[in-house]
Amino acid sequence: MQQRDAYLIVNAGSSSLKFSIFCGGSGSDLSAIVNGQISGIGTAPRFEAKDAARHVLADRSLDGVGVGAADRAAMLGFLLGWIAEELKGTRLVAAGHRVVHGGTRFAKPVRLTPAVLEELEALIPLAPLHQPHNVAAMRALAEVYPALPQVACFDTAFHQSQPWQSQTFALPRALTAEGIRRYGFHGLSYEYIAQRLPQIAPEMADARVLVCHLGSGSSLCAMRAGKSVDTTMGFTALDGLPMGTRSGVIDPGVLIYLMREKGMGADELEALLYHQSGLLGVSGLSNDMRALLDSENPHAAEAVELFCFQVAKQAAALAASMGGLDAVVFTAGVGENSAPVRTRVAEKLSWLGVAVDPAANRARAARISAAESRIPVFVIPTDEERMIASHTLGVLAESSSSIKAA
Ligand code: AMP
Repeated sequence: MQQRDAYLIVNAGSSSLKFSIFCGGSGSDLSAIVNGQISGIGTAPRFEAKDAARHVLADRSLDGVGVGAADRAAMLGFLLGWIAEELKGTRLVAAGHRVVHGGTRFAKPVRLTPAVLEELEALIPLAPLHQPHNVAAMRALAEVYPALPQVACFDTAFHQSQPWQSQTFALPRALTAEGIRRYGFHGLSYEYIAQRLPQIAPEMADARVLVCHLGSGSSLCAMRAGKSVDTTMGFTALDGLPMGTRSGVIDPGVLIYLMREKGMGADELEALLYHQSGLLGVSGLSNDMRALLDSENPHAAEAVELFCFQVAKQAAALAASMGGLDAVVFTAGVGENSAPVRTRVAEKLSWLGVAVDPAANRARAARISAAESRIPVFVIPTDEERMIASHTLGVLAESSSSIKAA
């Protein structure tokens, strides 16, 4: 029987490891056949997998199968065993990882080697909440299946095309040279949108496009001709928009004040700014946009208003970075699903010529702008996993052709 090539796509976090399995040969016919996760890492690991139609294929505790609560290698070993057992007719040929930080060095995806792993480990201080888990998953997979090619795909890479002024803080040059600069994140999502938009609207291929990635983490990207020219996240994924639990942009003087007057240290500030702020902090209720939109509580309404206000305000700044605005795209959990948030952001951008059609917006059409809107507005579901799968394929093809050439 002819076996189909399969690619394991991994997005490893602190307590969960999300995975997808893609099959297919070239970018266009790649299809996700399984999505799943190992949750409860460190406490009570659980394995779940669904097929493309969202039918449950597996949902079980990993207790009692020789998997320690924090033993990522054993968990990945279990996953590989499950793939071999359940996905007959496929042959796992590579794994692709979402890696939050590629520093200044990695402007595109890269095949993993021990040297690359070390470089990625050295970037942990730049993204201490995500990078260690990304690296741990790559190490664990290399341990249980050393022959499996692995590819690292970076959330920062897409923004390497930005001009100097978008990447630079007004700090002494020695600090900039050390890498204290703006990197930007959500790059795999933006790269996917950059490829998808011209398929939906070919006239947008060279346009100045504002992409609003609004999810539990949120950012905006200014793109010209499919390349990033500016973005709202910076040195870390804290800057820019208020998010589910992150503050977004804040006067750095506040931090100095909190350190001096309240004796807060780095860990407390980190907890405050990453986990207790944003929609949760302002509403005092929830980090979930749905819950806030459904709530009668005035603090919930204020949280939503602050979010939409900042999206519009920072969108205007990004329009200046692009020297104008030709299109707006909404994506990610809130951007794809919340008609009320899209309406409110569009209203605040009406002075730029943005207007949405209420019926198209409610129906989540691909193009939701009103007939009279000067600026077309799109809703495009993002697909970071597909982007990683397609990069993984590309890097493998490159490395096999360079081996042949040598
Ligand atoms: P993401 O991080 O892209 O998966 O987005 C997750 C967020 O999307 C959740 O925290 C929800 O707040 C939000 N979300 C999902 N569906 C809706 C919806 N129908 N209305 C408003 N927000 C939503």
